Amino acid sequence: MLIAKKIIDLQNFLKNKRAHHSLGFVPTMGDLHEGHLSLVKRSKKENIFTAVSIFVNPKQFDCKEDFKKYKRNESKDIEKLRKENVDLVFLPSAQEIYPKGFQTSVEVGGLTKNLCGTFRPGHFKGVAAIVLKLFNLVQPDKAYFGLKDVQQVKVVEQMVKDLNLPIHVIPCPIVREQNGLALSSRNSRLSSEEYFRATKIFFSLRVCADLLKSRRNLSLKFVREYFRNHLELQGRDKVEYFEAVDPETLVFLKKLKPPILFAAAVWIGKTRLIDNVLVLKPHHVYGG
Ligand code: AMP
Repeated sequence: MLIAKKIIDLQNFLKNKRAHHSLGFVPTMGDLHEGHLSLVKRSKKENIFTAVSIFVNPKQFDCKEDFKKYKRNESKDIEKLRKENVDLVFLPSAQEIYPKGFQTSVEVGGLTKNLCGTFRPGHFKGVAAIVLKLFNLVQPDKAYFGLKDVQQVKVVEQMVKDLNLPIHVIPCPIVREQNGLALSSRNSRLSSEEYFRATKIFFSLRVCADLLKSRRNLSLKFVREYFRNHLELQGRDKVEYFEAVDPETLVFLKKLKPPILFAAAVWIGKTRLIDNVLVLKPHHVYGG
């Protein structure tokens, strides 16, 4: 496994690989868990070469404190990727990615206006810039993204379509704990009590989806209140948003008619977690 910290090393390695082989790419911010590794495994299965990047992208953090707190776990990450037989890890410094004088931004329009976009100003601009830059550097055939960050997947898909990038974006299912909690690098910040409260996020999303089966004319107001009441029960946690959106366009739905994507962001104490559940038909609920 080659570990490239410099763009020049990355490009030298990839120069000979690209011509005749399929290249899969998994961009990450590190502190890898089974969610990340599921993308790596999928890429390994579908490509001859797999490249993974680890870069905590300062431009996508709307809060400096969150950027500072973001866990770095380089040596453990490398160990995990070695076990997966990854071919290349790109581990650049911020200086390497954003050298002095860097001044380009990338903005995807409508899709970034609601859900996380409303509450994290500039977040998706930062995501689009880094993903486009990494795509240019790696030039993969396929790029793998997790549906936990469903809005991110849509934004990347839109950018790829609008700019005619020759890359297939592959959305991958959410990996969860047995209790349903979506794996996230931020979960390690939770105390054991907070961890227990965090498991209510998926549980409540599932209940909302199940209510569609059992109740006719279920209103959005009702499910929104259910979700908020359940999560904010003890006054320590806060629902940032809970929405029912069209799974393709992420536009807010006025009526609860499948297909529906229930998406939520919840502050469990000082940790912000996101999750979503897709309902294709009233009896057909996906956790990822
Ligand atoms: P991050 O390191 O948080 O930027 O995530 C890197 C990639 O891993 C993104 O495409 C995420 O959507 C994906 N990912 C993170 N957590 C999960 C999960 N629980 N299941 C599936 N994919 C995930």
